[in-house]
Formats: sequence, C-alpha cells, structure tokens
Amino acid sequence: MNCKDFENWLLSVERTSDSTVPNNVTEHLLICADCEQIYLLDTGLETQINGAFARQDVPIHLEALIESDLDHATGPPFLTIKKITGLVAAIGILVAFFYLNLNTPFRFQNLQQLSENAVLQHLNGDFTMTFDASRLDQTISMLSKELKFKVILPDLTARGYILLGGRICAFGKCRAAYLFYKNQEKVCSLFIMDYDRLEFEMADGSRFNNILKGCKTDIWKENGQVYAMVY
Ligand SMILES: [Zn+2]
Repeated sequence: MNCKDFENWLLSVERTSDSTVPNNVTEHLLICADCEQIYLLDTGLETQINGAFARQDVPIHLEALIESDLDHATGPPFLTIKKITGLVAAIGILVAFFYLNLNTPFRFQNLQQLSENAVLQHLNGDFTMTFDASRLDQTISMLSKELKFKVILPDLTARGYILLGGRICAFGKCRAAYLFYKNQEKVCSLFIMDYDRLEFEMADGSRFNNILKGCKTDIWKENGQVYAMVY
C-alpha cells in the first residue's frame, strides 16, 4: 500500500470505534509518519462526532410513565394484563420517539435561531482544535466525508482573517465544521453547514447580520453551503 492507496481507503470507509483496520493499512501506518498523522486526525474527528451525539435527552414524562409502571409491576399479583399493556405501550412510544429523533434531520427554522446557536457556541469558549491550518486539503476531504457534504472554505484572507484550525461540532442538533480564525488579535468562530440544514429559502450570496450578547454575527450562503461567522 502507498500513500494514495491509504488516502483512498480512509475516505471510502465508514469506520466505527470497533471496526478493524486492514493489515496492509496498519503496515503502511508503521512506516509512514505522514499518513499516521492523517489517520490520527480522522480518528479524532470520528471520536468527536460520537461524543457529541452520544447523549440524547429522554422526554421526562415518558421516563416518569415507564418508571411508575415499573414501580407497580413488582410482583405477579400486580402484574395485570392492563399494566403489561401499559408498559409495552410506553416502551413502544419511547422507541418511536428515538427512531423519529434519529431519523428526522434537524433543520434551522430561521436565521435568528441559527445566529443564536452560533453565538452560544462561540461564547461557550471551547476553542479545542483537532486540526490546524496545515494539511488543509486532506483535512477538508475528511471533514467532507464526516459531514456528508463537500466542505468548501470561504476565502477570507482579503478581510484579514487567518485560519487557525478547527474541529467538528454538534451545532443545534446537526453536525457542522467549526473553524477558528484570528482577526486583529481576536479569535472568531466560523460554522459551516450544508444548505440542507435550513428549513427556509436563502439565496446564494445573501447575507444576514445581527448583534447578540455583545457578539456580531455574519451569516451568508455561498457554494451551496451556509457560513456563520461570530466575532
Ligand atoms: Zn503514507
């Protein structure tokens, strides 16, 4: 296996935490520090995604309903047909809820909601980066694979932005690329998501600006994706 084969393999497979790495890949990683770096970068992105989406909130009333049914169903005298039916129904509702929750794609309803999410994430102050501005081509390929849309970075150099690095984040309830830029000694956040994440129409090249909690936001659509800058 050579470096190109490795890159093709990495971009074509859907890896999970328990999937095994083929021997020829492991062998190449042992002798090629470059590919090893890329491999670690990709593993970092996967881990982040799994961590960000591992927690799903259980609706409180359903949890209470199931608990109360379990409390009553302590022994055979109490385990009536009615109780069993109730318990089965509650579990059914819970399963349906999770199924819908996982299979209905999240979409932003309006630009206000999107900008609020961007500002909250920015003010959260977690500037952890899993990649820096080097190896940008490979990084963008991996981001595109993980986010399932072709990520294109906007050209912001003319406006004085210097790319520092980034990571993948849970944005609202969807995945987005989260990039950090420096501009006049300030760290700015840029979120990139697929246009498909909007529930409403937005024309290419149109912009939206507002000020929230002392932060300025600049949201625009370009290259079929949505960019949200907070500074
Ligand atoms: Zn290599």
